[in-house]
Amino acid sequence: MLIEIVSDEQLINLYTEGGYLVAVDYPRNEAKLHTIDCMLADPISSVGVKPSKMKENKTGEFWYSKNRSEANSKAEEIAKKKDYTYVICPICNR
Ligand SMILES: [Zn+2]
Repeated sequence: MLIEIVSDEQLINLYTEGGYLVAVDYPRNEAKLHTIDCMLADPISSVGVKPSKMKENKTGEFWYSKNRSEANSKAEEIAKKKDYTYVICPICNR
């Protein structure tokens, strides 16, 4: 099941669940796939995504799924629709 992530807290609570995060960055024209435990997908990390702020500023959107192919399909769908680059994060891709 695909879940929209709208806050940092929501994402933090999913950390131990495993699964995948699609991080859509509007200014960068990019849809990126992360594993949920990637440091770039961790709002607590200084380099991590910040869903609350991005939602508030309308600079991005986030989707979570436990299933990689489902998350992947969502990232590809958004990339295609918005003509964004689809990226698999090089740090957590394994
Ligand atoms: Zn990553």
